Amino acid sequence: MGQRIGIFGGTFDPIHVGHLVAAVNARDALRLDRVILMVANIPWQKAETRGVSTADDRLALVEAAVGGVPGLAAGRLEIDRGGESYTADTLASMREAEPEDELFLIVGWDVAAELTSWERYEEIQALATLVVVNRPGSGRPGALEVDGWRVAEVTVPNLEISSTDLRARAAEGRPLDYLIPDAGVRCIGARGMYAGSG
Ligand code: ATP
Ligand code: MG
Repeated sequence: MGQRIGIFGGTFDPIHVGHLVAAVNARDALRLDRVILMVANIPWQKAETRGVSTADDRLALVEAAVGGVPGLAAGRLEIDRGGESYTADTLASMREAEPEDELFLIVGWDVAAELTSWERYEEIQALATLVVVNRPGSGRPGALEVDGWRVAEVTVPNLEISSTDLRARAAEGRPLDYLIPDAGVRCIGARGMYAGSG
């Protein structure tokens, strides 16, 4: 029998507890067997606007952060595929590898508001149920009512944390503790990520 698999895509530059809390609560609410935190190789929405940490560094950070949390895993499919990362491709290859699995694409409110600008979003609609989680700083997008999406909404604790803020903190030498799991903070230090980068 197929499994219920959540895919939570992101740049994760760096991963933080906002991501992790959303992932475990979506897993619990929808009884998912696993949530894969899928690390974008080259996030096409972001690549041109700022220097993104290497995919290797971001993946190592996600692996460290998920540690032994049951039902969470770091995903490297997009990194292994190379090039720009498109969710439609990711879902299609997951469907091909495990045709029996049911796929759930998890996004926060900010991302849900932009879904129709995604590459080949009609393919995404056909391949996955959209799981929308609340995120402070963005409103609940009205676009959820647009036909074509199978949508599940999951309410998670509101954590006003962003990678953008964490990069600024790291660059200024302010603490990352408790905003990122310990193992992730150590990984950032060991790899010399974000120091002085702004
Ligand atoms: P950046 O500031 O660089 O954009 P980010 O914190 O938004 O980083 P992303 O990697 O862009 O993190 O986001 C990946 C996914 O996680 C998106 O679907 C986003 O909506 C969701 N997400 C990020 N932070 C939170 C949060 N604090 N609460 C709920 N969802 C979140
Ligand atoms: Mg973001």
